Amino acid sequence: MRKNIVAGNWKMNMNQEQTAQLIADLKEAMPSNDASVMIAPTFVNLAKAVELTEGTNIEVIAQNMHFEASGAYTGEISADMLKSIGIQTVILGHSERRAYFGETDEILAKKVKAALDNGMQVVFCFGEELDERKSGEHFNVVESQLKNALFELPASAWSQIVLAYEPVWAIGTGETASADQAQEMHAFIRKTIAAQYSNEVADQVSVLYGGSVKPNNASEIFSKPDVDGGLIGGASLNAEDFSGIAVAFS
Ligand code: PEP
Repeated sequence: MRKNIVAGNWKMNMNQEQTAQLIADLKEAMPSNDASVMIAPTFVNLAKAVELTEGTNIEVIAQNMHFEASGAYTGEISADMLKSIGIQTVILGHSERRAYFGETDEILAKKVKAALDNGMQVVFCFGEELDERKSGEHFNVVESQLKNALFELPASAWSQIVLAYEPVWAIGTGETASADQAQEMHAFIRKTIAAQYSNEVADQVSVLYGGSVKPNNASEIFSKPDVDGGLIGGASLNAEDFSGIAVAFS
């Protein structure tokens, strides 16, 4: 079901002590409104974070996972391992995974399938690079990312998908897509899903925006009709900033 979501991707930040402190700060600071709150600490701190958020409305999610169930894949983590410590949602397709770790649409399609087969929810990230935006290719790029990784899924699987449109040029750069640029792309994403599936599927999927969202720009971006919240990097590492973004839904 479509809902407002504010999700924090902590990336490779925060040791265990810092994780505990940030969660304690978030428990104090987060507003109570209708937005779902997710945080994605690094793998080694997930179990601790699950324990520390018990009884709160903060969901702890993973930043990645492997598509195989088990076996000789040194350094990798499976869906079953995540579920066994209480993780129900995984981020897949982040641009840093694509750029630094060679994750292709084909690999991502396998990861999405593995997560869904395990009953998990997926926050699927995608978005164009700067040169693709400048050359006017951004709609084509986004369409093919969606098509290659997600359009083999049956319509019923889409209740387990959250989309995060993240223009790569806006991630960690301080440069944000304007609220109108975000709305334009989010409307295009829904139109593309409606054409492949149905208006019903397109209308029920939450589509988050990611890319330098801060307390001072969140309200304007989130006020757009096709923007259902944000995937937040840098600003999710500070309780005041993250709660200042979540307040945009109040
Ligand atoms: C991200 O990495 O998903 C992200 C949106 O980062 P930032 O908010 O720092 O731009």
